[in-house]
Amino acid sequence: MIVLEDIAGVRAARSSDLTSSWGLVPTMGFLHEGHLSLVRQARAENDVVAVSIFVNPTQFAPHEDLGTYPRDLQRDLALLAAERVDYVFVPQDHEMYPAGFQTRVVVEEVTRPLEGLSRPTHFQGVTTVVAKLFNIFQPKRAYFGQKDAQQTVVVRRMVVDLDFPLELVICPTVREPDGLAMSSRNAKLTTKQRKAATILFRALSTARDSILAGESSGARIRELMEDVIASESLARLDYVSVASSQTLAEIETVAGEVLISLAVYFGEVRLIDNTLVRGTSPDA
Ligand code: AMP
Repeated sequence: MIVLEDIAGVRAARSSDLTSSWGLVPTMGFLHEGHLSLVRQARAENDVVAVSIFVNPTQFAPHEDLGTYPRDLQRDLALLAAERVDYVFVPQDHEMYPAGFQTRVVVEEVTRPLEGLSRPTHFQGVTTVVAKLFNIFQPKRAYFGQKDAQQTVVVRRMVVDLDFPLELVICPTVREPDGLAMSSRNAKLTTKQRKAATILFRALSTARDSILAGESSGARIRELMEDVIASESLARLDYVSVASSQTLAEIETVAGEVLISLAVYFGEVRLIDNTLVRGTSPDA
């Protein structure tokens, strides 16, 4: 496994091996089984597997947790070596954003609802860094987790709109045995908060079960989720959503596939989760 810190090194490796298929897994590190599931799928589908580890400052607002985002590069590298990764890219901030940097990639409508309401500049940081990574690696395939549902929609929009010649592969959310979606931020929860955090999965399960039992009112489903979250005193709700999985607009009546999602604070730690559900009404 080769660890590279500079863009020129990645470019040299890629240009000396243009005929192989490269699979890229962009991450912010502090790796867990969710990340590793993406790496394994990339390993199964490509000649060469590259992982980037970069806590991207432009996707954090000034009041967010950039400074306390968990990091453990040595552990991450050991995990990736065990998965037979070929290249790991670990740039410093100034490598990705040198002095004078002033370009942003902005995807419009689908970045505005959901995460965009609480984090209005988040996705332009994501799309800017992902566009750079795509240009640097020129992967045949890039791997993203369903855990960050809106991110998959936003990145797909960017890939289509800007003609990136690659395939996006979206991998299912990997969960702890009690249902909590794996996240690097889970490490920041206290023991009590960690127990309480199962409420996200319970709220999603309640919503899913109600839809499968025939509930089709978006408002009613959102209310059910709010009630579940309100039952946990350590949880502070940011949003619940029942939205179109395509446009991410909130829906009044469930028909076809809907994205159920939510964001919840435990102290300063903000967790998100989601599930896709297909309605059971006759026109669904
Ligand atoms: P992050 O390091 O949080 O930026 O995540 C890097 C990639 O791993 C993103 O595409 C995430 O959606 C994905 N990912 C994070 N957590 C999970 C999980 N629990 N299951 C599947 N994919 C995940």
